[in-house]
Amino acid sequence: MPEKIRVIVNEDRCYLCGGCAGVCPTLAIEVHSSGWEFFQDKCISCRICINACPVGALSAEPLEVSE
Ligand code: SF4
Ligand code: SF4
Repeated sequence: MPEKIRVIVNEDRCYLCGGCAGVCPTLAIEVHSSGWEFFQDKCISCRICINACPVGALSAEPLEVSE
């Protein structure tokens, strides 16, 4: 089973272009003028967003599954 991840944004790099939200197949990312938002329950850990970000602002950390 592929590892579940949490996607994290580096707010110092992200310029809110919306590219990651545009490529996410499950709409797990929303980008507004006010900021970047991630919805863990929608994410399927495909990492497409991480590869799509032109400035490398996204990274992944393993999602701890508790209980
Ligand atoms: S890893 Fe895949 S599903 Fe999760 S936020 Fe990125 S593009 Fe969307
Ligand atoms: S693609 Fe990168 S720079 Fe653009 S909104 Fe997403 S995280 Fe920010």
